[in-house]
Amino acid sequence: MCRHLGWLGRPRTLAELVLQPPYGLLVQSYAPRRQKHGLLNADGWGAGFFDGTTPRRWRSAAPLWGDASFASVAPALASHCVVAAVRSATVGMPIEASAAAPFTDGTWLLSHNGVVDRTALPGVTAAESVCDSALLAAAIFESGVESLGAVVAEVGASDPAARLNILVANGTRMLATTWGDTLSMLHSADGVVLASEPYDDDPRWVDIPDRHLIETSGGEVRLTALDTAP
Ligand code: GLN
Repeated sequence: MCRHLGWLGRPRTLAELVLQPPYGLLVQSYAPRRQKHGLLNADGWGAGFFDGTTPRRWRSAAPLWGDASFASVAPALASHCVVAAVRSATVGMPIEASAAAPFTDGTWLLSHNGVVDRTALPGVTAAESVCDSALLAAAIFESGVESLGAVVAEVGASDPAARLNILVANGTRMLATTWGDTLSMLHSADGVVLASEPYDDDPRWVDIPDRHLIETSGGEVRLTALDTAP
């Protein structure tokens, strides 16, 4: 299980969001607090952000804690919308930068915490990697992010062992699903953080219940239960 983080609000630097919090993605790369699958997230990382409406990414197959170049530049990269992740590769998946989230279709940045049987994703074309998460991202992009909840429920029905926590943003909207793993939200006057686990001990963090879709835009948050009918 990887760990991911999304931000939508006033511009903040990647250092502020990813590196500086006491239990942020940097610390989660070697000592996550709530990870249920895997012990650490050493198989790469990715930081994506919107520059206006253009998604930009910096990804790596190496551990985040060893990246002095990112640590040097991250304080100078600020954005109103960020999707970042640290990766613990599922056994059998390639360890390469192109398998690290966030994935993109040129409009959205998408991260996946979890695992899915690739045979439950038939007909996917043009994925960034053969990694299960890259195929799932491609499937969601092909169906349209509007149908995120339906795609997750459908894939979850065809692979009951799947864990499908998705985080996806386009600069003005951010959506996430909970399906088998943890997700927490910190909603403040400055914006909304969605993260696999709280990055500090702020008492305003709330846990999102499993099998839900959460969507935020314009400072509003909406939570809906996903359809889990067989
Ligand atoms: N299955 C994905 C991968 O191999 C995601 C792994 C995870 O969430 N740890 O990268």
